[in-house]
Amino acid sequence: MRVLMLSDVHANLVALETVVAAAGPVDAVWNLGDIVGYGPRPGECIDYILGLEPAASLIGNHDWAAIGRLQLDEFNPVARFATYWTTAQLRTEHMHYLESLPNRVMEEHWMLVHASPRHPIWEYVYTAKIAHENFDLFDSQVCFLGHTHVQLFITESMAAAGQPPSQPHDGMVLSVAEERHIVNPGSVGQPRDNNPDAAFAIYDTEARTVTFRRVPYDVELTQRQMDEAGLPRPLITRLALGV
Ligand code: ZN
Repeated sequence: MRVLMLSDVHANLVALETVVAAAGPVDAVWNLGDIVGYGPRPGECIDYILGLEPAASLIGNHDWAAIGRLQLDEFNPVARFATYWTTAQLRTEHMHYLESLPNRVMEEHWMLVHASPRHPIWEYVYTAKIAHENFDLFDSQVCFLGHTHVQLFITESMAAAGQPPSQPHDGMVLSVAEERHIVNPGSVGQPRDNNPDAAFAIYDTEARTVTFRRVPYDVELTQRQMDEAGLPRPLITRLALGV
């Protein structure tokens, strides 16, 4: 089974459509959370993902914020403004869909969370230490997660040795058959690794490989949509920088 892994779409419909087209035929879609927040097309992105009939779909912290399940004190003023704007765009059925999403999915061979096994909504897995602590908290061969908006992978032995996560290049095929891994497919709609190209990954469940991908999309079109929506300027400019 070829699985398209999407994470941190952040209401960027242009990037989402580009990624799905670039991925080609797949057998299943997994969404690792944060469909909405920051971007200009929250309701449309929910509708689009529903249309993909995802086999797994998780809640992220921005999805929670949009449906009022999170205190916004931890968000900076720009993110807070975007959250209020997002909530105002969503229809009742969008709210109900976000409310229905789980914060983790566990199967025999893989676990899916938005942020980390320890804190499925909040923790950023970006150091060997944090990864090492989290390897003890799941049993499966691989844990797929998002939240940092940075494509990366780390094995259990790398984490134990204090070796930081690796950032893959576009097209890299990673075998997860031997060692246990934590894998982040990166962010579709707001990458933060100084590369504005949309990020995603394909997981082959039989070959037990993850193929990391980056694809350029029409950033200026998304920026125009954000401008027309009156979203904060820093959120618009960061898309072109990938930060
Ligand atoms: Zn996010």
